[in-house]
Amino acid sequence: MSKITINQLHMALSEANSIVLTVHIRPDGDAIGSMLAFYEALVGQGKQVRMVVDDTIPEKFSFLSYADSIQSVDAFDWSQPVDMLLVLDASTYERIGRVGALCSAPIFNIDHHISNTEFAQGLYLRPDFAATGEIITDLCKKWNWPITESMGTSLYLAIATDCGFFKFSNTTFNTLEMASHCVKAGARPNIISERIEAVSSERLELTKEVMQTISFYKHNTVAIISLERKHMIILGDDTDGFVDIIRNVDTVDIAILLKAESDNSTRVSLRSKGTDVNRIAAHFGGGGHIRAAGCTIHMPLEEAKAVLLEVI
Ligand code: 5GP
Ligand code: MN
Repeated sequence: MSKITINQLHMALSEANSIVLTVHIRPDGDAIGSMLAFYEALVGQGKQVRMVVDDTIPEKFSFLSYADSIQSVDAFDWSQPVDMLLVLDASTYERIGRVGALCSAPIFNIDHHISNTEFAQGLYLRPDFAATGEIITDLCKKWNWPITESMGTSLYLAIATDCGFFKFSNTTFNTLEMASHCVKAGARPNIISERIEAVSSERLELTKEVMQTISFYKHNTVAIISLERKHMIILGDDTDGFVDIIRNVDTVDIAILLKAESDNSTRVSLRSKGTDVNRIAAHFGGGGHIRAAGCTIHMPLEEAKAVLLEVI
């Protein structure tokens, strides 16, 4: 069994009592928002639920309810019995880090990535949905599970951050409809945007420096912005938004953010207006969606840039 229907997912959840929730490493708004909301929903259904992530949780998500209940892999009590490991927003087994090896329970996966490798025993996949948060909202609606104000806030954040606050091509009627249910439940779009988009003056100073790295290739259809080691040391895990600086340039089809993760490893974020960047990311062992994907190239930043430009 790999792909499952909504009813099979419902049945599997009703049979599980003790559930561990996890999401992908370098968790983003969709991962964290979906997990926190589904945590609350499952607790509301009388389940014993715990959350574990094999990475640090970016500070900007700390205002969400239950964010302080997310445990690190090291603090987590792995000896307690678990009926189901429920993986949200992660498309490969590797993307959940050490949680996969540490938890022996059957794995279920709720995801929206077209590149999903079907690693779970039960996969509820909706590549037609902009965000995992959109799936979770839809599930709660269809199952008549109440969406509280805090769930609405987490789910709105999840949906909005994965579709560029309703600007990207993955935004559909359903995306907006699910977001409207979140607002009905009490989510405040302006407050959420303020929290997520707030920048310090120091960060803006750094952005001025990072903007000097912007370069154009292939008749200005490809733009690259780079976070070098010195930038990464200051920024840590908070690198959202840099690729957005270049994606709207009128001639640009593919926008690329390169991050010098270490002297020998470069993280790549790809965005496009038309080209299938999931295919480019897959070439380097990554994945994602047609117009937003990522991968890691095990080379220093400048070398990674060169091999990437060869593949495009
Ligand atoms: P981002 O550039 O925001 O990190 O990621 C863009 C999209 O690609 C997200 O949907 C993310 O889940 C996916 N993605 C990013 N990096 C990887 C990767 O290394 N492997 C896979 N399979 N997907 C990735
Ligand atoms: Mn997502």
